[in-house]
Amino acid sequence: MLLQNLHSGIIVLYAIGGDFFLKRIICCFLLFILLTSFNSCTFSQKEQSASKQIFALDTVITLTVWGNDSQGAIDDVEKLIYEYENMFSTTVQTSDISKINTSTESEVQVSDKTAGLISRSLSISELTNGDFDITIYPLVKLWGFTTDEYRVPDSDEIKAALSFVDYKNISVSENIVKKKSNTQIDLGAIAKGYISSQIIDEIKKYDVCGAVVNLGGNVQCFGTKEYGDTSFGGYSVGVEYPESGDCYAILNIGDKAAITSGAYQRNFIQNGKTYHHIIDPKTGCPAQSDILSVTVVSEDAVLADALSTALFIMGVQEATDFLKEQKCADVIMLSDDTVYISKGISDNVELEKEYNHLKKQII
Ligand code: AMP
Ligand code: MG
Repeated sequence: MLLQNLHSGIIVLYAIGGDFFLKRIICCFLLFILLTSFNSCTFSQKEQSASKQIFALDTVITLTVWGNDSQGAIDDVEKLIYEYENMFSTTVQTSDISKINTSTESEVQVSDKTAGLISRSLSISELTNGDFDITIYPLVKLWGFTTDEYRVPDSDEIKAALSFVDYKNISVSENIVKKKSNTQIDLGAIAKGYISSQIIDEIKKYDVCGAVVNLGGNVQCFGTKEYGDTSFGGYSVGVEYPESGDCYAILNIGDKAAITSGAYQRNFIQNGKTYHHIIDPKTGCPAQSDILSVTVVSEDAVLADALSTALFIMGVQEATDFLKEQKCADVIMLSDDTVYISKGISDNVELEKEYNHLKKQII
């Protein structure tokens, strides 16, 4: 028997200034408004605001912008999203990534943006000692995560696919990607972070004062809902408890991205065992992690996305040591009985009442 699970990670709750408790009441109310208003594609939630929900990048994307030219910004960004999808997708045959994955040549020319993102991916592989590795694609395919035809491969198949997995097998020089034969890549663990940061940069070119970009639970925000609103307390997002879909924590996100990884987001069950989509490049199998979900909070959405995947693979202890040493991002990390929260954001995180039984550890 094979069952499939798909979940996001962050639930957007629009908060306004004021104390945290009050904010939470308002959040729930606004979540309700948000869900009912999105029945139509585009709506004007308030004066000078626009919101749109689209399906792209294999997920539901919600864009909300406040300011005089909010609609213009949204129209522009919508086109941008499709451009990036056509550049980075492994399933669009003409994408840069498909070109790399199908080419028999050792050098492939790609757009500057693709080259830049691959180059950044390689430096994050170095940073995470290879836990984050975009050459994981042969294994993602082998386990059926690209086609939804899930299967548990045997050890010979895993060994064969693993022999093509090593970020050191690719390099980038200007817009040329050099690769060893049979190297195939998948930007699935980093592209949404990159795209959300590009969207925010694009929106900022317009006469707008704030925005919330939600790429299937990967959220990035900036600004305020009204021009010059100095009392604005920041946007709040709910962090999803794995499987249940409830919010277990509320995060005041500020002008940052919050990106979550977890085994619950995409998996299948076979013979009573759950197999998920985050593959450990050292074993070729779904990572055996004691983390249920990890949300990375950073101004750098690209790093947040890639790190969420890598930290999940590391597990609680290694991820904690890594964060202490690198000091490169803040996290909310959940294990069976404990929620680990970085000192840098501990004042911005509040556990929901039903989850107060969780131990809270500041790291
Ligand atoms: P995320 O949801 O950001 O954690 O990304 C998970 C997706 O990234 C998977 O669905 C795969 O497409 C891909 N992936 C899986 N394992 C890895 C890994 N170790 N490094 C980089 N990408 C991965
Ligand atoms: Mg990721």
